[in-house]
Amino acid sequence: MALPQEPDRTRALLELLYHVSRELATALDLRTVLQRVLYETLQNVGGERCSIVVLDDAGKAVDATIVYGTKIHEHTTQQMRETMERGLAGWVIQHRKGVYVPDTGKDERWLIRPDDTDRLGSKSAICVPLLAREKLVGVMTLVHTKPNSFTSEQLDLVQAIADQAGIAVLNARLYTESQRQARVMTALAEGAAAMNASLRMDDVYQRILIQTMQALQVETVALGMIEGDHIVFRTAAGHNAGNILGRTIELGVGVTGTVTREGRGVVMADTDRERHIHEADRLAGEGTRALLIAPIQSQGRVIGVLEAINPIAGAFDPDALLVMTGIGGLAGTTIQNAQLFERLQAAHKRYRDLFEESIDPIVITDWEGRIIEANRQASLLSGYTREELQNMTIDQLHEVNWSKTGMEFEFLRGDQMISYESSLHKQDEAHISAEVHARRVEFDSTDSIQWILRDITKRKELDNLREDLTSMIYHDLRSPLANIVSSLDVIATMVPEQERATVLSILKIAENSTDRIQRLVSSLLDVSRLESGQPVTDQTVVDALALTQNTLQDVAPSIKGRRQILIENLPSELPRIWVDEDMARRVLINLIENSSKYSPSEGKIEVGAQAEEGWVHFWVKDEGSGIPLSEQDHIFDKFTRIRGKGKVGGLGIGLAFCRLAVQGHGGRIWVESDTGKGSTFHFTLPTATREQLEVDATE
Ligand code: ADP
Repeated sequence: MALPQEPDRTRALLELLYHVSRELATALDLRTVLQRVLYETLQNVGGERCSIVVLDDAGKAVDATIVYGTKIHEHTTQQMRETMERGLAGWVIQHRKGVYVPDTGKDERWLIRPDDTDRLGSKSAICVPLLAREKLVGVMTLVHTKPNSFTSEQLDLVQAIADQAGIAVLNARLYTESQRQARVMTALAEGAAAMNASLRMDDVYQRILIQTMQALQVETVALGMIEGDHIVFRTAAGHNAGNILGRTIELGVGVTGTVTREGRGVVMADTDRERHIHEADRLAGEGTRALLIAPIQSQGRVIGVLEAINPIAGAFDPDALLVMTGIGGLAGTTIQNAQLFERLQAAHKRYRDLFEESIDPIVITDWEGRIIEANRQASLLSGYTREELQNMTIDQLHEVNWSKTGMEFEFLRGDQMISYESSLHKQDEAHISAEVHARRVEFDSTDSIQWILRDITKRKELDNLREDLTSMIYHDLRSPLANIVSSLDVIATMVPEQERATVLSILKIAENSTDRIQRLVSSLLDVSRLESGQPVTDQTVVDALALTQNTLQDVAPSIKGRRQILIENLPSELPRIWVDEDMARRVLINLIENSSKYSPSEGKIEVGAQAEEGWVHFWVKDEGSGIPLSEQDHIFDKFTRIRGKGKVGGLGIGLAFCRLAVQGHGGRIWVESDTGKGSTFHFTLPTATREQLEVDATE
């Protein structure tokens, strides 16, 4: 078409551009856009054929269309490549500006292409770049079979069309990209929705497989989880799935290994050509043609792999890796959620089991005190059925100690346990003693109170027994003993002069023995009292030095009798102490008698004392059998006797009394001993304070 003369020409030009841009603006599909540009160009500029090669961001030809008259040829990209690199188009790409070649025969930039219909002979050509926002998106070439068929004005016109086309191509490309992303997003969104529909592990695995299969259209899918140093395939679907189940791949082996190590997916279009593939990667055996492996990730850690094997269409879609990587990410989160859920359920079940099987009766109430749940023991102990209990309140079941719990259980709002002794009301209207431990718990996801109601009837019985024993010792042993002692005193006065020496020595033996029985009775009584938590009450100001010396005098004869040597290691002065004198004396006697008992004849026994800040430190040292380290902690327990020492008699009550007595005074007692070399028992008693001394002085 010949262009009219100015100014009509300008108008015609503007109209043409307007028309072209409107034509192009309505198309979003790249092929349609290209065809329209080509038709418009041929129609408005003239020429026999026109072509466009589309370039990607890297300048690589990705699409090409040629129009010969009215015929369209596509997929000619490969043929165009050479032209692009070296020919006229190559020059235009390089210089980013259009060119008019009036005679192709005289221009070396013109390469003869194999699809040229009339290869020989000169032609004329216009070649322009397609630019959009400074970006080169393609090249357009217009050819006329005769030389000198165009003018430089037509070059301008083609360039003007090309400028419109550039924007249209860019738009089409953006549109295609957004379409592709939309497809991927839809696949992933659908996958996510389907996968998250369940929290049961098996179900979750199955759903991941189905989603993968649907999104990728493959013959087989498999899912492997990292367990220790292997990937174990516990689920698979599709062709050959049965053979895949239970398969393991050692971590780090083959392409699967690379995927788990690097945390990124791999596509293998043709497994036979893969150099790094390992036999283990061929999950579907010999028939594994194409493979896509994506990592399953959770919180940035690879926890497994997802494999898609053999696409039904023959090859994987270009988006397949992207989709699969997305599914892998979703699967990771879903699996982790399901795992957490399973763990939570297991924890719930464990608590339930513990609750149900507990040997203690447990009830759970809300914050109004209504019983929501009760375990088997609660039912057994109270005599109420579970249903009956669930219709009761906690204060109907036991005597709530409101001062401890608060009238609205407000003192339980803190997380610490509140304990008290109370009485439990049984269904048969009987009452039993119970120790109550109440605390705030979460039960079946609700904020609740847990009440442990421990039956302490047995303990109460034992307490009573102890009291009975104490009073028995007191009345039935102590008073008759006192009678014996006073009777012996009376007898002593009645002995005739001539028999005095013999009788008195016999009386002394009786007196010593009654003394020992009295000490034992007193110690038993003290152990019982101190153990039940009663304090030491008879404390007075006592001279520590005199106390020790008097005690030594008392025990000296029996030590001498055993031919043992008693060594006194006392300073000239000791502070006065604040103690129950009889108790303190009995502690010393106990330790000295033990030393004597467990030492050979001729053995040395040293008794010493020294003042220390606020305390007097006493010790009794022997060269006897000693006490093994393993036993040193236990010997202070009641009724403990070291095994293998059966020859020496004893109750195992002496040291228990010593500890209770010393600790009752706030002091410390301990032993240092080497087996075979002897033992040293130490203890401390408090010195009297100034006030105690003053009070003592006034009494
Ligand atoms: P008992 O002497 O009546 O058995 P104790 O409570 O006094 O009971 O002592 C507990 C155990 O500690 C003794 O049986 C003995 O085995 C060990 N023991 C106590 N004192 C000594 C000691 N000085 N040397 C060696 N062993 C001792």
